Amino acid sequence: MTFDSLGLDSRILIALKNQGYTKPTPIQEQSIPMLLSGSDLLGTAQTGTGKTAAFTIPIIQHLLDGGTPKRRRIRALVVTPTRELALQVAENAKRYSAGTGLRTAVIFGGVGQNPQIDQLRKGIDYLVATPGRLLDLQNQGHIDLSHLTHFVLDEADQMLDMGFIHDIRKLLRIIPQKRQSLFFSATMPKDIMVLSEQILRPNYKQVRIAVEKPTAERVTQEVYYVAKNDKPAMLLELVKSMEGSVLVFGRTKHGCDKVVRILDKKGVKAAAIHGNKSQNARQKALKEFKEGSLNVLVATDIAARGIDISGLEYVVNYELPNIAETYVHRIGRTGRAEASGASVSLCSADERGYLKDIEKLISASIPLIEDHPFAEGAAEEWSDPENRKPKKQGQRAPRPGRGGQPKSKREARPSRGKKPSRRY
Ligand code: AMP
Repeated sequence: MTFDSLGLDSRILIALKNQGYTKPTPIQEQSIPMLLSGSDLLGTAQTGTGKTAAFTIPIIQHLLDGGTPKRRRIRALVVTPTRELALQVAENAKRYSAGTGLRTAVIFGGVGQNPQIDQLRKGIDYLVATPGRLLDLQNQGHIDLSHLTHFVLDEADQMLDMGFIHDIRKLLRIIPQKRQSLFFSATMPKDIMVLSEQILRPNYKQVRIAVEKPTAERVTQEVYYVAKNDKPAMLLELVKSMEGSVLVFGRTKHGCDKVVRILDKKGVKAAAIHGNKSQNARQKALKEFKEGSLNVLVATDIAARGIDISGLEYVVNYELPNIAETYVHRIGRTGRAEASGASVSLCSADERGYLKDIEKLISASIPLIEDHPFAEGAAEEWSDPENRKPKKQGQRAPRPGRGGQPKSKREARPSRGKKPSRRY
């Protein structure tokens, strides 16, 4: 399939060509025709699959089909959980609608509202927003959603994780009933399905794009066993050996700040993005990282999810995630499009349960690198019987201990799979 065969407006086709897109991605191939025909859509897909274009292109086409109204009204609304994702979605909409005369705006909290109100006053066709600021400006009378024809809820699972359910419910009471709705989520647990059914019309269509493929095929994965206390030193070694941009994942905001302090102290320029950072600090860090003037970005999952950083070479799991799917999201930050990437995980003894869950999910064992400067410390930590107990999701980490027991089965296992990119 080509974009040309979808019956799209020539201005959209030109915009896509200018982006260098030659053919639709699988989610675009499936969704665009359904959406053009007016169906509601439930999409199980994460960022990195091309899902933004999958929903943006048909909406732009419909807006163009609707002609130029006398007064510009908000006809399409995309709601995203984070400011970063909102900016990215709006940026995509601007690119795909370049030359069409449609106007896009993005609004989110944490910054002054006046520039956003000014923009809204000039008239907007396509609005991208985070829930809090959207409702705030709507309450103040700056946003009229009564002409909405298209509604997209993006990253719904994250939206619920972040506690936006009440805002979403409020929003659903405000927007017109007669509309085309699109609902995207990386995962579809029961509460998300229930929410989707409140938003979509009963005859909605579904698309499901598997997440494992891109990671397994294009991202080299490695794991190092490291004692918890050795993680900072190990990270430093790794980061110094990596040529290119490195996205480091921590589990907590505090942990991310600590990593940045450690790297900074040793002369490695790094910045953190997480919910406690100001909007300006986050945007500045992300901009510098994307431009290449900042090599190391340390992020929590929530702050980094959905962020598209083209050309990202390395993902480092400084701490393993306690939800296996999150690992797939993390390493999906690299290896985008045709690029290849590498993911390195530092696993302390108390995180071994997480590693097991991840390997089960991806149906593969991640090659273990045994030859590194901190291997001895790890063996010691692992040998504590308390630390050898498999840890289940959500369980508290046991305190690292000492001892002199034999190596576990997993430790003794030789590395398998692709050759690692570095050796210690
Ligand atoms: P998304 O899942 O929307 O975040 O998209 C992931 C990346 O794929 C973005 O950098 C898009 O610019 C890019 N992309 C989207 N559609 C295509 C396409 N048809 N061909 C090539 N790249 C694409």
